[in-house]
Amino acid sequence: MELSIIVPVYNEEANIELLFSRLHIVLKQLNLNHEIIFINDGSVDNSLKILKKLAIECHEVKFIDFSRNFGHQVAVSAGIDHCQGNAVVIIDADLQDPPEIIPVLYDKLKEGYQVVYARRKSRSGEGFLKKFTAKLFYRFLAKITSVKIPLDTGDFRIMDRRIVSVLKQMPEQQKFLRAQIAWAGFKQTYVEFDRDQRNAGETGYTYRKMIRFALDGITGFSNLPLKFATIAGFIVSGITFIISLYALYARFVSKDFVPGWTSLILAVLFIGGVQLISIGIIGEYISRLSTNVRSRPLYIVSESNIISN
Ligand code: UDP
Ligand code: MG
Repeated sequence: MELSIIVPVYNEEANIELLFSRLHIVLKQLNLNHEIIFINDGSVDNSLKILKKLAIECHEVKFIDFSRNFGHQVAVSAGIDHCQGNAVVIIDADLQDPPEIIPVLYDKLKEGYQVVYARRKSRSGEGFLKKFTAKLFYRFLAKITSVKIPLDTGDFRIMDRRIVSVLKQMPEQQKFLRAQIAWAGFKQTYVEFDRDQRNAGETGYTYRKMIRFALDGITGFSNLPLKFATIAGFIVSGITFIISLYALYARFVSKDFVPGWTSLILAVLFIGGVQLISIGIIGEYISRLSTNVRSRPLYIVSESNIISN
């Protein structure tokens, strides 16, 4: 098998067929032995039906149907677990990532790279808030981690077998593939493309999912937030020490003191705030630690034409 295409699917009934036909044209030109693995991530529309139909019509089409929605990163991970190609492409089902870029990615990979990611030159059809928060988040993440995560990049990319086996060895339950791949090293490069707008349907990434994804990225690739508690503790203690000196001076030397409710309440609120933030940060790490200790299966397959259960 030379090429595997991994497509996570969540309520994409209006996009699958168009995606498949565009992929089909591209793959025909490439003329490689290939497979297309669709992972149905608990869609509640007709996605599964369409996938099954495609799988009957075309033997290169494989599908993995999850028992419920496990999330985009887990869906892609299932594809990575079960793909067989020497080169593996991850692509969205909503046609925001144009399949016509795949030959460009493939050619670049053949120049001797292990990863070629598709970098967004422009993104159309996405709200200001989404683009702005994404930009801010990835720049913040870059500041607090030592892993060089490429900016303005999603999961649309091609990688070779060595990267796939590295990913399969990474047991964490909170997948943040773009950073895991960057962490793997080897020779990585990019090509630029203009990201289209979603062909039909609506985004499966709610703000809730985005926040969880962002926290997975931070907790998975940086321990700096944990140190925040220590740093904040030192700063607050320093300030408190100076204030204590002043309080003693005012009480015993200048005897110029007023029973101060304001300063008291400010100090209590401030320290309370710092403590709550610190406990919250520790909580984020501990909740992920406990998920990993439980080590439940990452996903449950309900039905598939490549996995027997
Ligand atoms: N997706 C998924 N599970 C989810 C959410 C999304 O498999 O819980 C898939 C979705 O079908 C698409 C890709 O992940 O193929 C990217 O999702 P989406 O287009 O909704 O995200 P956006 O492009 O808006 O960030
Ligand atoms: Mg999309």
